[in-house]
Amino acid sequence: MTSESAAGSTDQYTFQNPVTRFESISPPTDQIEEHGLEADMEVQADRGETSYRGTGRLTGRKALVTGADSGIGAAVAIAFAREGADVAISYLPEEEEDAQVVKKIIEAEGRIAACLPGDLRDPAYCISLVQQSVDALGGLDILVNNAGKQQAVEAFEDLTDEQLDDTYKTNIYSFFRVTKEALKHLQPGSAVINTTSIQAYQPSPTLVDYASTKAAINNFTKGLAQQLAPKGIRVNAVAPGPIWTPLQPSGGQPAEDLPEFGKDTPLGRAGQPTELAPAYVFLASSESSYVLGETLNVNGGMPSP
Ligand code: NAD
Ligand code: MG
Repeated sequence: MTSESAAGSTDQYTFQNPVTRFESISPPTDQIEEHGLEADMEVQADRGETSYRGTGRLTGRKALVTGADSGIGAAVAIAFAREGADVAISYLPEEEEDAQVVKKIIEAEGRIAACLPGDLRDPAYCISLVQQSVDALGGLDILVNNAGKQQAVEAFEDLTDEQLDDTYKTNIYSFFRVTKEALKHLQPGSAVINTTSIQAYQPSPTLVDYASTKAAINNFTKGLAQQLAPKGIRVNAVAPGPIWTPLQPSGGQPAEDLPEFGKDTPLGRAGQPTELAPAYVFLASSESSYVLGETLNVNGGMPSP
């Protein structure tokens, strides 16, 4: 149950010290189950519910965000709605409770929130998700490929073929499939944003399957960006560092590492999901019209290429 909250109270434009904007959390070693809910986390994350302030940067836009029930995807969906966009949200059916919370926040902004549950490992869902989004929103001009599977495995010999398959299908195959389908609808001016990770360059020994998909996402981003540039569709990526989301206490980290999560960054603390949102807003909006194939690192200061 919830015993602590990392929620900040000031908006993202308030002058403040990044070291102390959010407290340095020390989560307990308790694990929740994979695809666990925000409410199951002992320390609640900040997705900008009470703090993210929109300034009309995505007025009238239509966005599909995968993995938008929780964590970074939820923070992005909330920010997009506050910036004036209607949002379709994709998530696994067992995460319906989290999705409903996000839907309420988006609707409170007077925006459409289309809840479209399904399993991105399934090619048929990747296709129907796009069509359902277009039907619900009346079009599509922002795609955020953000869903991800991360399960730490100590010994390579114990990495099952099933996990390898699931990690690749969720983290990279679905990015290909959803983007390909979305291209039928994306007009010049549209943006595709892929969530990669610091793990693309600094793989943890316990995350070889996951980290290698993140390297693939960076490469996918740079290749596809060049192909779609002449069509006026920009493709970019965001690479988060250690961010407090349900992914981490649900097997994403060895349990004994949780209390120290994020403390080895130069800022000395884990990031909160809402701290990622402005990067996605920037890459989605036309203000980044000359930014293509870029990976924006949002990681508390960890050196990255
Ligand atoms: P999260 O668990 O809150 O979000 C991940 C979401 O992915 C889930 O909520 C779920 O809806 C979705 N998902 C997983 N498997 C799916 C499937 N088979 N079908 C449909 N949806 C599925 O965690 P998060 O940390 O916000 O993760 C979002 C993205 O950020 C992921 O791509 C993750 O790899 C990346 N990332 C996270 C961190 C971090 O420290 N939290 C760091 C770097 C990158
Ligand atoms: Mg979730």
